Amino acid sequence: MSIEPFGQTAAAGAPLLELRGLTKTFSKPVSLGGRIANIFGAGQVAVQVRAASDVDLSVAPGEVVGIVGESGCGKSTVARMLAGISAPSGGQVRWRGRALAEMSPEARREFALGVQMIFQDPFASLNPRMRVADIIGEAAVVHGIVPRAQMRAYVTGLMEKVGLSGAYIDRFPHQFSGGQRQRIGIARALAVKPSLIICDEAVAALDVSIQAQVLNLFMDLRDELGLTYLFISHNLGVVEHVSDRVVIMYLGRVVESAPTAALFEAPNHPYTQLLLAQLPVLEAGAQEYAPIQGELPSPLAPPPGCPFNPRCPLATDRCRGELPVLREIAPGRLSACHLNEGVPG
Ligand code: SF4
Repeated sequence: MSIEPFGQTAAAGAPLLELRGLTKTFSKPVSLGGRIANIFGAGQVAVQVRAASDVDLSVAPGEVVGIVGESGCGKSTVARMLAGISAPSGGQVRWRGRALAEMSPEARREFALGVQMIFQDPFASLNPRMRVADIIGEAAVVHGIVPRAQMRAYVTGLMEKVGLSGAYIDRFPHQFSGGQRQRIGIARALAVKPSLIICDEAVAALDVSIQAQVLNLFMDLRDELGLTYLFISHNLGVVEHVSDRVVIMYLGRVVESAPTAALFEAPNHPYTQLLLAQLPVLEAGAQEYAPIQGELPSPLAPPPGCPFNPRCPLATDRCRGELPVLREIAPGRLSACHLNEGVPG
């Protein structure tokens, strides 16, 4: 049974996925105390939290894009909007050149199958009462990708493709190790022939040696099936290992985007520079980290001006009052920092 992905039909050169000005705002309701205070005229209102602001991103077929940032920077919010799990408050998601909001039901279905997500906790994302055969094969049967009579053969092929023995087809999730469960999650994603796989901290819960095996599996599947990946991680080392391009997010915004080698060789944005300084210098045998000063500000009360200014060692008065624009600083490289003004794009 073939498991060629939908990705084979992507138009050459056209982005598979584009985000334009993607924004997500959550409303934090007034607390009980606030509501009581309102009875006496306090006038408290719900607070708007911007989890993602004006995120632009374009992903080409076959590309691996890493999205990096600290916990709370908005990367998972973006991933959930991309996968259609959460609706954006503003901006557009475009799939194969078409805006999601304007798609026909049939095109929406193709999108829903074409974008699959793999989560951090493989155990939580697998139904403990279902056998692996059904976990992996059910969606493919429901969507008419494989006839029910051929489901077991299809699932066996997928299990072997992700490095699991087909002999385990009737087992339950608790009978597998963490790494094996993540492989089940990958086989389940592959079963509906996706073009794009979003990995949201997909190896973060695994032991380091298992992480490397699963990352290598992702890359083998990319070569074999022509898959495109969005790799979301707080771990720069993981992202460097797998990505063609890296996007750095801070407090809901993209602050830098560059080809992986260029970014690691010469990071432009002060935040990226400090993130890279956190990596251990293994070549030198050192294990020293330079933690970024201060804490990530609350999205409930983002600082005015550049969102990084309270932690930036290079901040000026201008940074504290004016938001820097994400602009091209070299071909294929974008950065949002006032210090780049005067640098030819
Ligand atoms: Fe630092 Fe200012 Fe650049 Fe922001 S704009 S990263 S505060 S130098």
